[in-house]
Amino acid sequence: MQVYRLPALSDNYIFLLHDPDRNITAVVDPGEAKPVLQQLQALRAELTAIFNTHHDRDHVGGNQQLIERFPQIKVYGGAEDRGRIPGQQVFLQGGDRISFAKRTAEILFVPGHTKAHIAYYFPPSNPSEIGELFCGDTLFAGGCGRLKEGTPAQMIASLEQLRKLPDSTRVWCAHEYTLKNLQFALSVDGDNLDLQRRWAEVKIARSRSQPTIPSSIGLEKSTNPFLRWDFPSLQSATKSHDPVQTFARLRGMKEQF
Ligand code: FE
Repeated sequence: MQVYRLPALSDNYIFLLHDPDRNITAVVDPGEAKPVLQQLQALRAELTAIFNTHHDRDHVGGNQQLIERFPQIKVYGGAEDRGRIPGQQVFLQGGDRISFAKRTAEILFVPGHTKAHIAYYFPPSNPSEIGELFCGDTLFAGGCGRLKEGTPAQMIASLEQLRKLPDSTRVWCAHEYTLKNLQFALSVDGDNLDLQRRWAEVKIARSRSQPTIPSSIGLEKSTNPFLRWDFPSLQSATKSHDPVQTFARLRGMKEQF
């Protein structure tokens, strides 16, 4: 399975999953149809599925046009997004499994950004493969999504599920927010050497307009303050030892940053 990262809208990424053997594709969170159609044309491939992580417009805005162009496709989303995702036919819950190409995705229920948010995790099916995580607006490189419909406790439980995945897992998050996220991270975890190193690399990459996605679970665990609510540096920055309170305060500080 190959993953194509397609820049869309102002700072979104759409991911096109390609099975070169059968020349079929599935798309994750098509906020608009145009970049998807262009990449499909370049590959001369068929689209078989839309995998939506949540209902926000910048993640589903291209659904309708893609359904019109490929009437046979299946549209997947979270069960609790019923009525909010255009064309949705499959209503997924945490623990469900779906297959694409030769891979099987595990569905993780990760509410917090929205109440219905899901993530698609493709574990490696043999030792030569890497796990792939499509986490929408739950986990970002160096940050996490805003709590629009969920509570800090829900978001911690969601991020905890992602934090437990193997370090090598590639994290395909839906926005290029990394530079700003790391600026904030440095303000609360400035002595973290891994974070300082990452900041230097990301600054160079962004000055050359290079993408910073995918990230990895290992890198996020060592540098992303929103996965480090139980580390002493973040506890002292938030003056709290309670995980939910530490996380909630961090989120509040990020809103003000
Ligand atoms: Fe978004």
